Amino acid sequence: MRYSIPKYLICILTQALFFGYSSNAQKFKIGLAANSPSSTVIFTPLAGDYRIWLDTVLFNPGNTADVYQLMLDGDSIDVKTFERGIGKCKKILFKALVKDGSFKLKSVKPEAKVKTYDDDLEVTVASTGLKLVNNVDVEDYIAGVVESEAGSRSSSEYYKLQAILCRTYALNGLKKHELDSFNLCDQVHCQAYKGKTDNQTVLSAVNETRGLVIVDDNLNLISATFHSNCGGQTVNSEDVWLLSASYLRSVIDTFCLRMPNARWQKRITKSEWLNYLSSKFRYPIADSASCGKALSVQQTNGREVYFVNKDLNVPLKNIRSDQQLKSTYFSLSLQNDTVLFNGRGYGHGVGLCQEGAMRMAQVGISYREIIGFYYTKVHLVDLAVLSFFRED
Ligand SMILES: [Zn+2]
Ligand SMILES: [Zn+2]
Repeated sequence: MRYSIPKYLICILTQALFFGYSSNAQKFKIGLAANSPSSTVIFTPLAGDYRIWLDTVLFNPGNTADVYQLMLDGDSIDVKTFERGIGKCKKILFKALVKDGSFKLKSVKPEAKVKTYDDDLEVTVASTGLKLVNNVDVEDYIAGVVESEAGSRSSSEYYKLQAILCRTYALNGLKKHELDSFNLCDQVHCQAYKGKTDNQTVLSAVNETRGLVIVDDNLNLISATFHSNCGGQTVNSEDVWLLSASYLRSVIDTFCLRMPNARWQKRITKSEWLNYLSSKFRYPIADSASCGKALSVQQTNGREVYFVNKDLNVPLKNIRSDQQLKSTYFSLSLQNDTVLFNGRGYGHGVGLCQEGAMRMAQVGISYREIIGFYYTKVHLVDLAVLSFFRED
């Protein structure tokens, strides 16, 4: 887990990594609330002065403390302050003049809570409403995502870990929204991002791990997947998705066993269960031995991939999704006419187990060791150092 990568490999790595990320261009374009587009928003500068461009014309407001209302009007944006109308344009850019610029954004139609963002805002017209894109410093974005993903009460070490995961995940997905003309959306589809955070523990953790990402043995950014709780054992990636990844291997995890999402239960009727198996998978419920097995299942020797046995070709991941179970790691038994599921963990189980990692951080295990525990044979790499070599 130390940086001992030879220089020739660094060249290969940097060429592979640096699409859209270098020391000179450290901003992401984040599409805001694209799933519920606004027709009217209010922009309020909060800190730092802003330059404002209406299309290509620099608008000099005289007073940048003004509040701007942007309203969709046909295929244009009608821009007003509280005092006066400013004009119409196809695109408006609010660009912070200082590094720590921030602004408030409120959607009036549809009505939504005010949110605060770092850096710049670009607004254009999309077919469904105003298209809002936050051009934000990578590390400011990561801080916002870390707070959304890890909550506001985790430990400093856990925030450091989450920052590295979120950074790696984001850099891996920069082309996800190429057709929308931004890098990432602010929903869980990419990573949940609710804007600027003022949580000092999060900000320090992001700063202390600035630029660190995880790469695999071939020096590619890893797909840094994580889930809430593995129930005691994580899952090989190919058992959930088609792709086998050398670093997404099943590991035994005892750290999450007493955490909030370690256990779950669910009940459904016996007839509903058997009908489901029969109609969805042609499971032989008429055969009494097979039927008996379908009503008494244990996963005591580790996690299984298939229900009852592999030859029946009933993947547990399909049962999980159809029955909306918290995980595939369950036992079941018949109690009168009810099938009782006793489950372990929450989520797909691939990669890092968040609750296990939180527990490890609580007992003093470092983020480097935690990453090495959940991801097999990976390396932590500092993009800033690599960038330096690249510009050499
Ligand atoms: Zn997305
Ligand atoms: Zn776990």
